[in-house]
Amino acid sequence: MPCPYLVDTHCHLGDTAFDADRDAVLARARAAGVSHVVVIGESLGGSERAVALAGSAPGLSATAGVHPHQAHTWSDDTANRVRDLLASPGVVAVGETGLDYHYMHSPRDSQRRAFEAQLELGAELGKPVIVHARDADDDMAAMLRAVPPGAPPVVLHSFSSGDAVWEAGMAIDAYFSFSGMITFKNWSHADRVAACPRDRLLLETDAPYLAPVPHRGKRNEPGFVRAVAECAAALCGETLDTLTQRTTENARRCFRSASV
Ligand SMILES: [Zn+2]
Repeated sequence: MPCPYLVDTHCHLGDTAFDADRDAVLARARAAGVSHVVVIGESLGGSERAVALAGSAPGLSATAGVHPHQAHTWSDDTANRVRDLLASPGVVAVGETGLDYHYMHSPRDSQRRAFEAQLELGAELGKPVIVHARDADDDMAAMLRAVPPGAPPVVLHSFSSGDAVWEAGMAIDAYFSFSGMITFKNWSHADRVAACPRDRLLLETDAPYLAPVPHRGKRNEPGFVRAVAECAAALCGETLDTLTQRTTENARRCFRSASV
């Protein structure tokens, strides 16, 4: 197995896209040098699945939270159940939460309310918060800038936002997680990868979505984080080993988990 090891910090491993061959997907990830996968919860049911999956095999941890698409389902009861899940062993972060004004599957005010509540849960429980941002730069930047100093870290996942969110993320020492989008020919933010502070760079697949080149258009899977790492190393002018080592150290620090 190649060494050092990669971490896929954002994978929807509980998605039905993996129901037929999840074990084989994980075996391929290990063979590709991926030692750890953070399994993302995007709804209450999805978070329960993520937590169960994380408990079922070594090298997996989970998050619990409600995606902006599902923000209309947020309630006091949801908050309490997410809080309980966050106390389970192997649950390393809140999320994914955030704002998505592109698809608008939930009204803006319920997205903001659910995001705010999950930032508060992160602060209450001392867990980092994984943030999805799409076409909501002004509101996202304002809400990030309101995160108080000393709060647990924010992870800007599959980062592809504009200057306002980038600068707000820099102002609060956010982690920037880059996905297979960085391998796309039409990706216009290549300079962000090299500009990201050395100790704030993370890698992810966002599988089953956003498969990197040369797998573009296929189902994405955690082993493909290696292609993201190779591209990031080239953009940073580093060897794959150096890039892998520091992004894995960053993931461990961010998620405060020796098992990551
Ligand atoms: Zn995601």
